[in-house]
Amino acid sequence: LASREAHPDFSIVDVGGVKIGGGNLAMIAGPCSVEEEDRMYRIAEQVSAAGANIFRGGAFKPRTSPYAFQGLGEEGLKRLRDAGHAHGMPVVTEVTDPRLVEVVCKYADMLQIGARNMQNFALLNEVGACNHPVLLKRGMSATVNDLLMCAEYILSQGNANVVLCERGIKGFDTATRNLFDVSAVPLVHQLSHLPIIVDPSHATGKPELIPACAMAGIAAGADGVHIEVHDCPEVAKSDGPQALLPEQYAEVASQMKALAELL
Ligand code: PEP
Ligand code: MN
Repeated sequence: LASREAHPDFSIVDVGGVKIGGGNLAMIAGPCSVEEEDRMYRIAEQVSAAGANIFRGGAFKPRTSPYAFQGLGEEGLKRLRDAGHAHGMPVVTEVTDPRLVEVVCKYADMLQIGARNMQNFALLNEVGACNHPVLLKRGMSATVNDLLMCAEYILSQGNANVVLCERGIKGFDTATRNLFDVSAVPLVHQLSHLPIIVDPSHATGKPELIPACAMAGIAAGADGVHIEVHDCPEVAKSDGPQALLPEQYAEVASQMKALAELL
């Protein structure tokens, strides 16, 4: 179902009125975790003014340590939705457990399956059984074929609204958080009709490397770019060190729009 043999025309996925695929550039931005209410409204205003069209933030966080901040749960979902919708942006947030799909669907316009859960087949089947758009991130040790087969789980349950995301894979060089596999973008477009976006924030882990990798993703044909933005990275509840400041996001956003216009 994911292959272009089955479906030669590229799919367009509608996320609360924002189209992903078919030449539209999705600009997804927001903090790693949903935080204080006033901060969510402020960041939403800033990224929306810069051109972002989908707001992000995690309310259920898949953390390495069980003692690290785990997210604000349902209260976080509400804050994300209210702040995003107040600024005209649909919202995407991660769902980490099949038992949470129902509550996340209540607030979110798009469900994110994180890299750590790419092959959580019970979760894939559950999101496949609803009609919400799904952002499926590539696992950090997954091949492109593994990613496409995970999309197949969702599609085979009847949910056709799947967008893929390249967010970096494990490399040997610890100078970057992950290894940004930009070749996954044209490869997915060769093999599949599904849209694919890039996440240079998790791929690099370094704010100074994000703009170049965002532009590389667009040049390679990505249908969108996902970037973490925080107005005070030092106090962020997660992934502060990789966050762009709102003004840095505004600069890369205008460059991304200019490049997308040329293609
Ligand atoms: C995230 O988007 O904040 C996240 C946890 O991403 P990933 O699953 O790609 O690590
Ligand atoms: Mn993050």
